[in-house]
Amino acid sequence: MIDGQPPSRRRTLRGARRFARYLLGRRPRRTGALEPGEDAFLRRAGELALEAERAGNVPIGAVIVLDGRVVAEGRNSVYRPLRHPGKHAETEALRAVPDDLWSRARDMTCYSTLEPCIMCLASLYFHGVQRIVFGASAPAGGAGPLIPDLPWYMRGIQWIGPLGDDTSRELRGRVRQSLQRNA
Ligand SMILES: [Zn+2]
Repeated sequence: MIDGQPPSRRRTLRGARRFARYLLGRRPRRTGALEPGEDAFLRRAGELALEAERAGNVPIGAVIVLDGRVVAEGRNSVYRPLRHPGKHAETEALRAVPDDLWSRARDMTCYSTLEPCIMCLASLYFHGVQRIVFGASAPAGGAGPLIPDLPWYMRGIQWIGPLGDDTSRELRGRVRQSLQRNA
């Protein structure tokens, strides 16, 4: 009986349980199977990336999907119309989700052309969007290397990618050029 034990012992047990949960949660799923038809969402994200590029921004696009339907779209907008470092494709997509859908955030998936950064991973997680699919890896800025060391409470995240599709890989090459151009 935990209740009958002195407080210090209770604290120790609580700490041990928390640590066990932490260890169990150290390795969220890094990959997962795509459902049939999901590549269409990544293609739409690719179109948004091209729109971002045409507007003078970094070619990265993202969509948020619920019940097989795109409910929000985002284009990278960090350079234009005004410089805003927080306007990543994923955060723009989050901002576009209709308010009345947030109660179903756990059923949403975010598709991005490029591996999301730490800011976007955290933002998606704390909005409740825990299934994240991306086309190309981002060795210089992707959050992937952190996945094994996320806090235990983030263990529900599904981190699916890189899918390695041609469009996303090609766009990644142009991301670097865009960053250099605007530096
Ligand atoms: Zn980001």
